Amino acid sequence: MKVIRAKSAGFCWGVERAIDIAREFAVTAQRPVYTDGPLIHNRQMMEKLLAEGINEVGDYQSKSDIALEAEKKQNAVMVVRAHGISPERRSYLKDLGMDFKDATCPDVGIIAGKIRMHAKKGYNTVIFGDPKHPEVIGLMGYTEGKGHVIKTQADIDALPALGDKVCMVSQSTMFTDEFGRLSEYLKTKYPGALVFDTICGATKERQSDVLVLAQEGAQAIVVIGGRHSANTVKLAALVEKQGLPCFHVETGAELDLEQLKKYSVVGVTAGASTPGFLIDEVCQQLEELGAAATVA
Ligand code: SF4
Repeated sequence: MKVIRAKSAGFCWGVERAIDIAREFAVTAQRPVYTDGPLIHNRQMMEKLLAEGINEVGDYQSKSDIALEAEKKQNAVMVVRAHGISPERRSYLKDLGMDFKDATCPDVGIIAGKIRMHAKKGYNTVIFGDPKHPEVIGLMGYTEGKGHVIKTQADIDALPALGDKVCMVSQSTMFTDEFGRLSEYLKTKYPGALVFDTICGATKERQSDVLVLAQEGAQAIVVIGGRHSANTVKLAALVEKQGLPCFHVETGAELDLEQLKKYSVVGVTAGASTPGFLIDEVCQQLEELGAAATVA
């Protein structure tokens, strides 16, 4: 079996940056570190970070109250996750009595900045994304109460009348073709709408690499990453869109080796929050499977 690993598989720069920031406090400075919800959406990596003294508190959507005893707060740092948070949540976290460090991905920060600037000028913001995802929940906080989340054309049809000032952005991890289609549709209703393609470069690169794997002859593609990771789930959906069998796994232990050994060329890719050690583990297992098949 030939195993082709996508060039972009694994950590994006925003995730690496958030991990580096948290490690700088926990490992280098030996200070207790807390994150408001998961720093990144990968359970295996979060377990590794926990062992290094980086503790997840709060919840997936960064909404719940955080109750930490005074002794746990001593010398501690609250680190904001890569997905970002709303301004209200920022104030809440800053008032917890710990040092505060923002590890929001700068690409998410750019989206928040665009929303905030236009909200101040009176614009309604339409966000293409998942209303339950923490990035979108955080971004909604910048809309000054004039934000709407849409995922489909029907959602656009269901919007209230938004007037002349409308701007549209995207959650960073959405499909570019869907964003293009929906923004065109929005413009038929609001011809003056300002459209900002805010899907991040890392997402675009990972999505186009799936097409490269298909062009290079992959007969099936293994997608590695968390089931809560928006960009990983999108990669798996994109594989299926190409008409290729998709094996979405979080770790090598979940690989269906019986099915996979039927293919002579298998592509491997991974979400932006998937650590390299998990990708290596999967590639090694597939290569061993290929070698065993060759010997047999
Ligand atoms: S996927 Fe994009 S927006 Fe999200 S952390 Fe990575 S670079 Fe930043």
